Amino acid sequence: MTRPDRTLTLTNATVLTPGSTKPKAGWVRIAGDRIVAVGGARKPRARGGQGRSTQSGRSGQLDTIYDCGGRTLAPGYIDMHVHGGGGGSFTSGDPDDARAVARLHRRHGTTSIVGSLVTAPIPELTKAIAELAGLVESGELAGLHLEGPYLSRARCGAHNPTYLRRPDVNEVKGLLEAGRGTIKMITLAPELPGAIELIEHCVAAGLVVAVGHTDATYSETRLALAAGATVATHLYNGMRGQHHREPGPPTALLAAANVVVELINDGVHLHDAVVGVTFDAIGADRVALITDAIAAAGVGDGLYPLGPMTIRVTDGVARVLGPDGAIAGSTLTLEQAVARAVEVAGVKIGDAVTAASHTPARVLGLADRVGSIAQGKQADLLLLDEKMAVCKVMVRGRWQSASG
Ligand SMILES: [Zn+2]
Ligand SMILES: [Zn+2]
Repeated sequence: MTRPDRTLTLTNATVLTPGSTKPKAGWVRIAGDRIVAVGGARKPRARGGQGRSTQSGRSGQLDTIYDCGGRTLAPGYIDMHVHGGGGGSFTSGDPDDARAVARLHRRHGTTSIVGSLVTAPIPELTKAIAELAGLVESGELAGLHLEGPYLSRARCGAHNPTYLRRPDVNEVKGLLEAGRGTIKMITLAPELPGAIELIEHCVAAGLVVAVGHTDATYSETRLALAAGATVATHLYNGMRGQHHREPGPPTALLAAANVVVELINDGVHLHDAVVGVTFDAIGADRVALITDAIAAAGVGDGLYPLGPMTIRVTDGVARVLGPDGAIAGSTLTLEQAVARAVEVAGVKIGDAVTAASHTPARVLGLADRVGSIAQGKQADLLLLDEKMAVCKVMVRGRWQSASG
C-alpha cells in the first residue's frame, strides 16, 4: 500500500470504467488503499510539479508512476459462489484451508471471495460457519453463502441427500447466530414445505435469498420471488428445465427484472450459446459469473472431498464418484470464466467484467466499496492482457506477488 500522503499512478493503460463495454485509454491514481482519481486519454497532471519522475524525494510530493504498457485495467473480480480451490475447501471450516482457497483464486483475479458451504449435518455446518465468520470479520472473505441444506432431493447434484432437510426457521436462526452477521446469502428450493416462510424470514434478516437446486415449477418459483428471492443459483444447473408448457424456474427467474442469475461459464455446465443468449437477453447487470469451484481448482485431476461427498475430477471435469455421477462444481477460476465469455461466448469485454465484478458486488451490498474503477473505491485492480489473462493483481493498493 502506498502511504496516504503519497500516490501511485498507473499510466498508459486501457481502463474499464463502469458502464463502458470496451476499455478506453486512461490512468488511475491510488493513495493508500483507495482510488483517488481516474482519468482519460490526457496524461495525468503530476502531483507537486514532479513531472514523470518516480520516487522523487521531497516529502508530500512523491508520486510513483507505473507504466501499464497499454494493457487493460479491470476491477478485481468478486466470486459470490465458490467452495474451494488450491487443494483447500471452505467446507472444512479450517481457516488455513480457507486462506489457501482465497490465495489460489486471488492469483486468478478474485479479490473478493465469498465462502460457500454445501449441505452438511447441522452441527458440522454450525462449526464451519463459526470458524469462517472470523475470516469475514478480518476482511479475508467477503461473506458466507449457505448452499443448503433446504434443497430438492430430485435436484441435489453433489449435495449429499442424507443431510437435506425441510426448511426450519428456528434452525436457520441458529445458523445465522453462529455466523454473527457474516452469512450474506442462502440458496434454497422454494417448493419445499415451509420454504416461503423461510424466505421471508431470511429477507427480513438481511440475507440475499437465492433459488437453486430446485424442482419448483414456474408458479412455485414466482411465489419465491414474491416472497423476496432475488438470485438464481447457477441458473439452468440443478433446477427443473425450461419447457415451453412448463417453463420452470429459468423462465420465472429470467423474467423478473430484479433477479441476478449466476452462470458457471466453464464450457461444461452450460453450452456457450446459452451463456451468450443469457447476457443478450437480460444484460450484464443481471448476470453474475461464478466459479462454483471445488478444491481441485488450480490443482488437477484426482479425488477430492466436497463436504461429505467424494468427487472425482477427470480432465478438469468434477463429478460425484459413481457410475452416473452428477457434475459437482467446477475447477474454474473467474479469470477463465471471463476470458471464455469474451473469446468463446461472444460477450463484450466490459459486460464480461461487469458480470464478474460490479454485479456480484451489488448483490452482496458491497458496490459502494468494490466492483468498479471509480474515485473513492478500494484499489482492487487487475492488469489483463489482450486474451483477458490476469498479469497482475492489486488488492487494497498493493500489488500481490505471483505466489500469493
Ligand atoms: Zn450447486
Ligand atoms: Zn455450489
